Amino acid sequence: MSLLELNNINKCYKLNGNKKFYALLDVNLSFNKTELVSVIGESGSGKSTLMNLIGGLDSDYCGELFVDGKDIRKFRKKELDKYRKNKVGFVFQSFNLISHLSILDNVTIAMTLSNVKKKERIKRAKEILTEFGLENHINKKPNQLSGGQKQRVAIARALINDPEIIIADEPTGSLDSKTSMQVLDILKGIAQSGKLVIMVTHSEKVASCSSRVIKIADGKIINDRKVFELENKTNEEKVHKDKININKKRQNLNLTSAIKLALVNMKEKLIRNIFISIGASIGIMSIIVMLSVGNGVKEYFNKTMKSYVNPQVIEVNMPSNEDETVNLDITTIQKPNINTPNSFKEEDIQNLSKIENVSSVEKGFTEISMGANSLEYGGKESNLMRISTISSNITDSNLEEGALPSEGEVLINKSVNDKLGGEVIGKKVSLHILVNQKILTKEFIVSGIYTTAGGDLTAVMKSVFLNYSDLEKLYSENEYELKPNVMYINIASVKYTTAIKEKIKELGYSGSSQEQMTEMFNQMISILTYVLSGIAAISLVVSSIMIIVVMYISVVERTKEIGIIKAIGAREKDIRRIFICEAFLIGFFSGIVGLGFALLLMKGINIISNKLFGINLVLIKNSYGVFGVAASIVISTLSGLLPANKAAKLDPVESLRRE
Ligand code: ADP
Ligand code: MG
Repeated sequence: MSLLELNNINKCYKLNGNKKFYALLDVNLSFNKTELVSVIGESGSGKSTLMNLIGGLDSDYCGELFVDGKDIRKFRKKELDKYRKNKVGFVFQSFNLISHLSILDNVTIAMTLSNVKKKERIKRAKEILTEFGLENHINKKPNQLSGGQKQRVAIARALINDPEIIIADEPTGSLDSKTSMQVLDILKGIAQSGKLVIMVTHSEKVASCSSRVIKIADGKIINDRKVFELENKTNEEKVHKDKININKKRQNLNLTSAIKLALVNMKEKLIRNIFISIGASIGIMSIIVMLSVGNGVKEYFNKTMKSYVNPQVIEVNMPSNEDETVNLDITTIQKPNINTPNSFKEEDIQNLSKIENVSSVEKGFTEISMGANSLEYGGKESNLMRISTISSNITDSNLEEGALPSEGEVLINKSVNDKLGGEVIGKKVSLHILVNQKILTKEFIVSGIYTTAGGDLTAVMKSVFLNYSDLEKLYSENEYELKPNVMYINIASVKYTTAIKEKIKELGYSGSSQEQMTEMFNQMISILTYVLSGIAAISLVVSSIMIIVVMYISVVERTKEIGIIKAIGAREKDIRRIFICEAFLIGFFSGIVGLGFALLLMKGINIISNKLFGINLVLIKNSYGVFGVAASIVISTLSGLLPANKAAKLDPVESLRRE
């Protein structure tokens, strides 16, 4: 059985206008080990076409091509990849070394694609390079070598995976006659070590040194003659050892190697990649800053709200359920208009005081009305929008002037004070309140002036605060019963706040009106933040398109390189992986740069906002940073999919023809 056998191979190219052009016509050949074959013919006679078929780069032909008795036509993609990687080695006229990789890396790349360990890769590559007298050049780049040296590197690369067939397409075509002979000697040595070397040449002189010469013209074999028998100088022991070494490891390109290759590629176009990363980072930066501003504003608002509220008191309201039909029982009919559905019943109070860690509960009453109630002083009258009982919720921090009201006293806010002509502290005022269509009047002493947080919208309401017991007395004097519509829960320690608040919600009551407002405000800020971040995210679309375009350009630029890597055994998957790694890395760098910019911008904004308002307007959270970088990576990697796929699908023959 021959090592390689071609039966009735026909290869035709379809030309414009449905014409066919036969590049190979009825080719029948068979090759064996330990042969140095020269294929000779004029330019355009079909030599390269034949080599590409044998090398498994081109599967579009008619006929049968047996390797070790197996038709490679029937190979699955995976087997064909394996065939190219391990069974054949390619040497080209124009060397086809990868210019941005060192000599050592150019040789090891074929092993990298096979996932051979780094140490072993380097050891073997150094061995082969030393054999070819290149040991002093391993760290050079290809363009620092002479033509002969480059071709020796290319041969070393072809041999690195210990293939049985070496295909050399005009290996001496670009060399002078002296170096041609050196290269020829090397190829001869390879053939003598028990391999099949098929070499394309123009030169009769080169051909005359080979053991067999095949002449081809217009796609037909016109002559096939044996010149002499090559002596087999196989070093059985060595071949055996090499085979075992590699066979064990024969796998595919691993992720670390792919990332390393991607990094080397990216370094090659460093400036371009820096600019892409900066461009793509802008969107990420905007999103992180938007989220942080939202967070900062929220945080500031909540802190201000809290600083005016006694943290050891929790305000509880009855749930404001609009659907609830008012349940008029006998008592409410007898005492109408006092028991609103918002009143707490004795049972509610019991429920609340039974909550764990509650030290006491206080009854409270708050009424908001439009001008029905008023406060009178010296002929001046101020209508009241809010009458509220005082609780431990109101502390000295709520006092602008004077003291908190004790029995028989009221606390008024600034707008009421202004309306009554100012200077009413310590003066006797008349309070008129409307209860069940009857005005109740009582005299009180003004104890002080109340103030609230700037964030409390009720600050502008004309308000009066008094003790619950006073209000209760006023009601009972008129034969009404006051029922609390708000409860204040005193807790032993602030550490129970959250748990108790949850319990209150669980029991079906709602929190303080201030708390509800804070919640609403927070919600509004959140929505606004997301909308703004969404707008910022539009720039991510721009960066994504930018990455796609740049990567497409990169694929076009590197078409030849992709062809080379495919010829030495890269699978579609490997190529795709290298490009996706590049996209991933761009995304990663953009994310980091974006985060850096965001932090810088945040510092700047905070310095300004500190000067203007005395607050840090931008507050970043770790999660925003993580989100930003992750989003950048995901978007970039997704953008890289299309170009990576294009690169993977490139036809190696076409790519190698590219100048
Ligand atoms: P050479 O013997 O010089 O290596 P090739 O094998 O490269 O010749 O080409 C053989 C013939 O096939 C040439 O005439 C060439 O023009 C033709 N050919 C090669 N590639 C294509 C293609 N993609 N489409 C059409 N014709 C092609
Ligand atoms: Mg050619």
